[in-house]
Amino acid sequence: MKLHGRNLIAGEVSAQGNPTFWHGTGTVGVNVHEATDWEVSRAASLAAEAFEDFRARPPEQRAALLDRIAAEIEALGDPLIERANLETSLGVPRLTGERARTCNQLRMFARVVEEGSWVQARIDRALPDRKPLPRPDLRRMLIPIGPVASFSASNFPLAISVAGNDLSSAFAAGCPVVVKAHPGHPGTSEMVANAVNKAVGELGIHPGVFSLLQGRGHAVGLALVRDPEIKAVAFTGSLRGGRALFDAANARAEPIPVFAEMGSINPVFVLPGALEERGRQIAEGLKNSVTLGVGQFCTCPGVVVGLEGEATERFTRDVGELIAAAPPAAMLNDHIWRGYVEGLQSIAAVPGVKAVARSKVETQSRTTGAPAVFATDADTFYNNKALRDEVFGPSTLIVKGRSKEELESVARVLHGQLTATIHGTPQDLEEHRGLISILEQKVGRLIFNGFPTGIEPCNAVHHGGPYPATTDARTTSIGTTAIERFVRPVCYQDFPQSALPPELRDGNPRKIWRLVEGQMTRE
Ligand code: NAP
Repeated sequence: MKLHGRNLIAGEVSAQGNPTFWHGTGTVGVNVHEATDWEVSRAASLAAEAFEDFRARPPEQRAALLDRIAAEIEALGDPLIERANLETSLGVPRLTGERARTCNQLRMFARVVEEGSWVQARIDRALPDRKPLPRPDLRRMLIPIGPVASFSASNFPLAISVAGNDLSSAFAAGCPVVVKAHPGHPGTSEMVANAVNKAVGELGIHPGVFSLLQGRGHAVGLALVRDPEIKAVAFTGSLRGGRALFDAANARAEPIPVFAEMGSINPVFVLPGALEERGRQIAEGLKNSVTLGVGQFCTCPGVVVGLEGEATERFTRDVGELIAAAPPAAMLNDHIWRGYVEGLQSIAAVPGVKAVARSKVETQSRTTGAPAVFATDADTFYNNKALRDEVFGPSTLIVKGRSKEELESVARVLHGQLTATIHGTPQDLEEHRGLISILEQKVGRLIFNGFPTGIEPCNAVHHGGPYPATTDARTTSIGTTAIERFVRPVCYQDFPQSALPPELRDGNPRKIWRLVEGQMTRE
């Protein structure tokens, strides 16, 4: 497919700016036109114009749109995977799986819209005879918040990019979306944007419901977040980027919510009983989790915590041996590779940190990430803030504590995290109840006898956590409750039936779950 590298604003190709960067290798590339301020503003104002139409459409149409987008992405076939592979080096099998996840996600949200209970309807009927004061008729539900700015992630060019989790959940809620494409995969973004536009056009929906803006440098993203028509921001990427956008959104005349998913080191606690029973198996699982996708996952386990002793020494040797044999692989881009190399240098420079092993497999390419493992003691971890920052890539740090109390101190000093994992036996759990209680305060997902990489988009999953894992610990970016980022409640007091939304009318025409007089019912 021939790529043009231009912006796509409300279904139209737009290139006000000169070509500003070349992306690709050899002759297989594209001249990308960075969006101008005018283009940013036009995309946002057309999104605002489309909002009334989009939110007023029956849920079946929004479900049909999500289904249609999934079908159009599938129809792009192998060229989409080839382009994504060229731009990210993630490999065909991984990208094929990611495409399936993207389409499943779109369809999952289509079913959420059809089912309808996401509006969380609540009804407390009038009590005109109540003493001393009558109660009015009160009915509350969630409505879409307005146009959403979505920042694509570098490490998921399909599932957390143009038609990924943000667009799926925002469209499900009834919000238009303006996507800031990630500069690492502009061609993939353009192809998926074409699929979205095709679906929007086929269903006769206002084209302003979707726009794609290209850019490299921070101007486009900042202008988008500052645009008064944008009402919420979704972001996956670095702490620095997420924080900058959060600050920009809060400095607006009208501050808006920013749902940024940022760094995490995803601690794994290996308790003594589990290490005795299956230390080698845990070491193998850990190596696989650390090196999956060249460690470029927000759920990569960057720190492993255990009690000093022979079992932990054996475990450290096992992990070292496995990491030494693990091959390096190409990272997403030069910038991320450089960040990884610098991250390894800063860990190695901390006094008290020992390099256990580094991949011994030879590689010709400069930008490949070599797996690495370090070790240290709990005091060093406790006293060096740098060890608590994410190193984005295939490395991990084993921290050894002398006592249960030291393990708990390590847990207490951690920043907010997306996940924490515990490997233990029932007896370990009994003895380390305090640890679980501390971790509950720190993370969004607690994993038992497993590994944090690999996240299932579904109803019960939570992909979030206290700052700096995210800027809002109450929400998730993956799973069906991600829709809650793009809604706000409205309460209707003493409204006539004919003027109420169908979700709140007597007789429950949509047959959704509602809390009526304190009871959940579909009646
Ligand atoms: P990034 O630098 O945060 O960029 C993500 C998006 O935000 C890009 O579109 C970028 O576009 C924009 N952006 C970044 N800083 C900005 C700012 N100050 N103002 C306005 N827009 C800004 O993330 P990345 O390129 O994916 O990778 C860099 C690092 O992010 C990695 O090394 C890793 O540490 C982390 N990362 C974390 C996750 C995660 O899941 N939490 C995922 C991927 C990467 P412009 O460059 O055009 O401004």
